Amino acid sequence: MPSIAENIQRLRDRVRELEDRYQRESGSVKLLAVSKTHPVENILQAMSAGQKDFGENYLQEALDKIQAIGRTEVTWHFIGPIQSNKTRDIAEHFDWVHSVDRLKIARRLSEQRPDSLPPLNICVQVNISGESSKSGIAPEDCEAFCEAVAHLPRLKLRGLMAIPAPTESLAQQRAVYRPLAEIMQHLAQQHESMDTLSIGMSDDHEAAIAEGGTMIRLGTAIFGPRPPRVPERD
Ligand SMILES: *Cc1c(COP(=O)(O)O)cnc(C)c1O
Repeated sequence: MPSIAENIQRLRDRVRELEDRYQRESGSVKLLAVSKTHPVENILQAMSAGQKDFGENYLQEALDKIQAIGRTEVTWHFIGPIQSNKTRDIAEHFDWVHSVDRLKIARRLSEQRPDSLPPLNICVQVNISGESSKSGIAPEDCEAFCEAVAHLPRLKLRGLMAIPAPTESLAQQRAVYRPLAEIMQHLAQQHESMDTLSIGMSDDHEAAIAEGGTMIRLGTAIFGPRPPRVPERD
């Protein structure tokens, strides 16, 4: 089996190749390593290959890892569902949150973000697969929601995020992402801070890059199959 460092190197080459193929600016697509359920040791291996951005879904597991690894060499992204009683820990320990889809959560994150830290970077999660997904705001509500988030003082609105229902072909995957990319283009004209389209996972990263994704969230492609999650305190 290839090592984590080898996977990262290969994926970087692949991203370069896809940027080229789809006429994306070189270096415009960033890799977010999704390390949920993988041990600290694997994160350290990815870091040794120069990986800086890591995404976590489960708060208590993530806090343990942040405690072990620290915050100076890693940019930590929270990408999982957010319960309102967990916002303080997220506001205090993360650099980015990709899964904001309720104003109540956004307000709490802003209120609880410590003044000693820069504003928390936010992607608004959009539901682009209709009923098949419970999370995310409806595309038609995006504009008003982003406007509200942009006014919260301790948040920095960076972009949109989506997790589409799996589809098979590249053409289908692209068709699902396209309307989101159009919304993103429209909103970026209103909000200078919006520069991030967080789309694409291990199985659909090509479609995401083709449609303008700037941050692809890869777990399995970097770390291999996920070990089962140990039930935890949160
Ligand atoms: C787990 C997860 C990923 C990574 O999925 P892979 O298919 O392993 O690449 C990406 N985004 C989110 C929100 C996730 O929860």
